[in-house]
Amino acid sequence: MQVSQTDFMNFLRCPKSLWLLKLKPEVYPHGEFSDYAKKIAAEGYEVEGFVKDLIASRPDATAFSFQSAFQADRGLYARADFTRDNGNGTINLYEVKSSTSVKTGGQHNQIKDVAFQKIAAEEAGARVARVFIVHLNRDYVRDGEIDPEQLLVFADVTQDVSEIEATARSEIDSMLELLGRHEIDETSCDCLNLSKGNHCDCFDYFNPDIPKPSIYSLPRISKSKLQRFVAEERFDLDVIGLDEVTDRQAPVLRAAQSRSPVIDHAEIAAFYSRAEYPIYFLDYETYSSAIPLVDGARPQAPIPFQYSLHIKRKPDDIELEHVEYLAELPAMPLALIEHMERHIGGVGSVVSWHAAFENTQNRSMAGLYPEKAAFLSNLIDRTLDLEDLFKEGYVDIAFGGSTSIKKILPVLAPDLTYEGMDVASGTDAMESWARFISMKDGVEKDELSEAMLEYCRLDTYAMVRIFEEMERL
Ligand code: SF4
Repeated sequence: MQVSQTDFMNFLRCPKSLWLLKLKPEVYPHGEFSDYAKKIAAEGYEVEGFVKDLIASRPDATAFSFQSAFQADRGLYARADFTRDNGNGTINLYEVKSSTSVKTGGQHNQIKDVAFQKIAAEEAGARVARVFIVHLNRDYVRDGEIDPEQLLVFADVTQDVSEIEATARSEIDSMLELLGRHEIDETSCDCLNLSKGNHCDCFDYFNPDIPKPSIYSLPRISKSKLQRFVAEERFDLDVIGLDEVTDRQAPVLRAAQSRSPVIDHAEIAAFYSRAEYPIYFLDYETYSSAIPLVDGARPQAPIPFQYSLHIKRKPDDIELEHVEYLAELPAMPLALIEHMERHIGGVGSVVSWHAAFENTQNRSMAGLYPEKAAFLSNLIDRTLDLEDLFKEGYVDIAFGGSTSIKKILPVLAPDLTYEGMDVASGTDAMESWARFISMKDGVEKDELSEAMLEYCRLDTYAMVRIFEEMERL
């Protein structure tokens, strides 16, 4: 069996999941190769293009080869983004990443990634002298044509690789031993003892008898408490006592046990006591790319390119005002800020969903344009996060333990839906804008523009409807 560096990284994330993928691909719950993953892959190729340009300009350009493949006898297969023949029987390995630093921990440990390549290359007969990760310079600011020399960082990770090489070799041995087995225990998996955030798409396959909802729906459950419930085989929320959960978990438990929403009127009232009319429902869409699109932008730094604003001037307003902005050309967000300045007055609350995102954009735009900092800081000060209401104020088990607007909207306003929309997520919006700004004028461009506006408009209108539903309570 051929085993690639992607397989190795998957093994490090979860051996059982890799086994299922390789040995029983027909039952593996393949998620869609998401648009975001496609964007990351496309960015990798884009960065590689600049690496090629840079290398072509070097006096030793002919020593480099791109996409060198190494196949070892025991199945290890690696494809280096490029290699350098040092002329003395050794090569250097280069791995291109679209990140702005070398990632050394967690699920995306790039040192382990290149260690696999080095081991595979050496087992295939190569002598590897040095290993590099080529990544983006986070401090690079575009100014005219992209300058590959300034954009790219060649990080020599030879020493880092040698420090973990023995560990990586023994992990590779374990992976090959596992993949040599025709059977494993498929009746359970380690995530039984871990909270929902750790679960992958295989959880239901390995644990088909876990009810829904279950103890995994309880927010911020501690490892020790979860392990106790698991040891006692108490997965169903009906057999968990209120005295066994925290204040944050109690509403979810009560909602599950009563099969009806749990409403904390005092919590909701406290939220509304802070809301001041006129109320501005605000949502941004942002774009980030490995290669900065416009002058003034940095690699992977998000730039707001669109916003939607619904304005409710007084509590009994039936007809709301709506304002929207969509950048038609790649540009830094000054025009967007100036557009907002014309439509967001100096008093009244700003309501967003998961407002930390909007406020992060406001802070970063204030850093870019000090002359706009007072306006943007004022927006931050006036912002209320509608998502907060669904942490304790209103909890329905139909939300599945989530506070995402996409889970809450179908329950509270079932006539509004994102389903079937051409642009139906922030990732769709990002990908659509990248296409939109490079399209020629015409019907197709107009349709895409309308789809993007419709999506962002629904984001803020959904907030209005949820706000009004909750206000009724
Ligand atoms: S749910 Fe967790 S332990 Fe189970 S297969 Fe997925 S990652 Fe592995």
